[in-house]
Amino acid sequence: MPKPNPRHPNYPIPSGDVLRAKGWRQEGLLRLLENVLSVGEDPDNLIVYAALGKAARNWAAHRAIVKALTDMDEDQTLVIQSGKPVGLLRTHAKAPLVIMANCNIVGQWAKAEVFYELQRKGLICWGGLTAGAWQYIGSQGVIQGTYEVFMRIAEKRFGGSLAGRFILTAGLGGMGGAQPLAGRMAGAAILCVDIDPARAAARKAVGYLEHVAPDLDTALAMIDEAVKDKRATSIGLVGNAAEIYPEIARRGIVPDIVTDQTSAHDLVYGYVPKGMSLDQVKGLRDDGQGQLMAASRASIVEHVSAMLEFQKQGSEVFDNGNLIRTQAREGGVANAFDIPIFTEAYLRPLFARAIGPFRWMALSGEESDIARIDDLVLQMFPDNRIVTNWIRLARENVPFEGLPARIAWLGHGERTELALAVNKLVAAGELKGPIAFSRDHLDAGAMAHPNIMTERMKDGSDAIADWPLLDAMLLTSSMADLVVIHSGGGGYAGYMTSCGVTLVADGTEAGAERLDHALTNDTSLGVIRYADAGYDESLDEIEKKSIGYVRVG
Ligand code: NAD
Repeated sequence: MPKPNPRHPNYPIPSGDVLRAKGWRQEGLLRLLENVLSVGEDPDNLIVYAALGKAARNWAAHRAIVKALTDMDEDQTLVIQSGKPVGLLRTHAKAPLVIMANCNIVGQWAKAEVFYELQRKGLICWGGLTAGAWQYIGSQGVIQGTYEVFMRIAEKRFGGSLAGRFILTAGLGGMGGAQPLAGRMAGAAILCVDIDPARAAARKAVGYLEHVAPDLDTALAMIDEAVKDKRATSIGLVGNAAEIYPEIARRGIVPDIVTDQTSAHDLVYGYVPKGMSLDQVKGLRDDGQGQLMAASRASIVEHVSAMLEFQKQGSEVFDNGNLIRTQAREGGVANAFDIPIFTEAYLRPLFARAIGPFRWMALSGEESDIARIDDLVLQMFPDNRIVTNWIRLARENVPFEGLPARIAWLGHGERTELALAVNKLVAAGELKGPIAFSRDHLDAGAMAHPNIMTERMKDGSDAIADWPLLDAMLLTSSMADLVVIHSGGGGYAGYMTSCGVTLVADGTEAGAERLDHALTNDTSLGVIRYADAGYDESLDEIEKKSIGYVRVG
């Protein structure tokens, strides 16, 4: 029986041991599709997160996907093109059940305006990174990444602790909603600005945000008090970041850390220009795109100018992966890229060892399955400080959304070991059901994005998209259950290509073989990608873990 979903009552959370499909592999993927809608931002319109990231092209396509997953045999492969199923073909039982290519537009045409036109004609949709691949697990999917970034800054700038430190950010949407909880878990006093009161209310309802302040003065007073007491807290404020950031700067207040996670990547469907209501913006999306783009860009110029001012005054300022610097530079802020990107600034040494956002979902819908795996992780990796610290913190602080899930930054070998151990627990009947494994597309070998993931690579290979394409081919030949190639849509059109993968640990030997090959090869390619770019950490990893890197020259 599905479980009730208070946030979206029409999208209950899949659970239980009754299969609608012919096996757990198919059923697992079906539950993940249901789950991305149950934790999504606007499920009635199939929107999952990041303004336009969709689970399927339209409702007819969605129904056809559900029917295919329900009816298909294990020796068939469902082929999905930009959120619409186009083929159910005979392959073999070790082939992926689902392959997808979402939103890949030929280079010279890969522009926001072309994407919007193709979308209007119903020919394409953007899958975000994890929406169209049915891997999204709500704000919990990025929370460890956000937390680790804050902690890296704590180590770099603040003696290892954010107690008594003020973080200013914006965006309380699907991904940005992780910020208040991550900031509080890191010990800071965090202020999160969002223009949409419903988003602030939603984050408060799920326990990610503690308070919503009625106005800026109150919000700043609450932050001030928490900073003085060195008390961790999260405060939401309804307002436009393009107004609030400059106003805070004007008052001479200098936060310790400043970032932003509005959907600045999309000037039409994401960012809300200052002075406009949400309804005004909606009204302009079809017929006033040019006006809306100009207004959004003008506001982003003010927003980023304030971020640069904070940087000048000594704040640690970074771009949190929303293309806000790129938009500002287009708008004339020549030094927008003085703001570093979070990947290069804080996380690259981890990615160079293919340590990244690995995650698992309890397909039974039972929280006890995640608790059992938490124990297993602590037992298997007692010396991994990042992961043991995270699991302890997460089990205490991170509320589940949708299917119970956990994220943990594990690397090469560790992911495979854990998944195989979990597969054994499923086989032994120690869990209530199978577990699905996946990872963010923001992973070592999985993403080319010259303004986010691969900015300023050591060898200048930032814009080369061969790596995610190779990853997808490798994962397909390594028997993964679902493999997807995504490129950017909306404002991200032309900016990125990524690869996603999902596997179902169903407790079988065949399942173990799939997990072993796919997870090992995925992280192998990740390490190789960075080794090829000249990163010492990767060469070390290759030697220590005997990864099959072919070194030329
Ligand atoms: P979302 O569309 O669900 O939420 C964006 C939020 O920004 C909304 O709540 C909206 O009301 C708010 N907003 C828009 N304009 C505003 C303004 N001017 N002032 C204040 N609030 C404003 O998007 P999301 O899923 O939360 O993603 C946010 C951004 O982060 C996207 O650009 C996304 O691509 C990026 N992202 C980064 C990472 C990462 O790893 N760092 C991961 C996923 C997504």
